Amino acid sequence: MSIPAFAGIDIGGTKISALIVDDAGGVLARGGVPAPVREGGDAVADAASALVHELASAAGAGIRAAGVGAAGVIDHETGAIRAASATFVGWAGFPLARALSERLGAPVGIENDVNAFLLGEAAGAGARGDVLGVMLGTGVGGAVIIDGELRRGPHGAAGEIGHTPGYSDIVCTCGQTGHLETLASGTSIGLRYAERSGGHIGGARQVAERARQGDADAIAVFRHAGHALGLACASAATLLDLPLAIVGGGVAEAWDLLTPGIDAALRTDAPVSGIPLEILPARLGGDAVALGAIETARSAALAFSF
Ligand SMILES: [Zn+2]
Repeated sequence: MSIPAFAGIDIGGTKISALIVDDAGGVLARGGVPAPVREGGDAVADAASALVHELASAAGAGIRAAGVGAAGVIDHETGAIRAASATFVGWAGFPLARALSERLGAPVGIENDVNAFLLGEAAGAGARGDVLGVMLGTGVGGAVIIDGELRRGPHGAAGEIGHTPGYSDIVCTCGQTGHLETLASGTSIGLRYAERSGGHIGGARQVAERARQGDADAIAVFRHAGHALGLACASAATLLDLPLAIVGGGVAEAWDLLTPGIDAALRTDAPVSGIPLEILPARLGGDAVALGAIETARSAALAFSF
């Protein structure tokens, strides 16, 4: 007899990760495979379902439902990808929920990856009420939980705090100017350091190494990123009465370097309500999206049972 279980799948630009958990949330298996995102939606669905089958079989688990955290804007009516970056070939319009459901023989729920990240982190932090999530990766993503529910917005595009203006006079990846992403993404941290120091050394991780060696330009780039992040969180908190922001992604691994800028922003620009805003680093690391996706799997299982 197989153990009834849920699968959480994290589909990223380079890797697909999956977790198999039992009813009580205990992790039975975890694993990952490269993501064939240049080969089209069916290839990605094949790779993800093969991974889940392998993990479930090794754990002696029967999958009741699966949830996916995937890059792109999700059409929650159909479970298809509405829009996606150019990295994912053939992804826009791909009916991901249906493709995976056919392959896994179980209901499948789909969530945007940053939304799934926040679902996972908020549950892990015991924060069920009102939370802002910010993901500082290649770009800057965001998500909001209000009254315990994800706020997706009528077009599935709520929470895109990375593309809010007023932080710099630098052109953003989207073509507009001054967005949070121009200072706080991993890519931007590398570029801003190159501009200041005259030498290109790579992404945020390399700049963080320089900062820890005392490089003043590297320290300043992280301080500016932290300050912009702090202002963005304070704006969101002021607008929506949010007491907590959780910040993940590769850049957040250098939390000690972001903190001086965040603290400076909170000293001068804290929400005028006087309600303290906590800005915390994510804690679940690489598991957050898959764990959040499992919340989506549970909802898919419930919907299926009606
Ligand atoms: Zn932008």
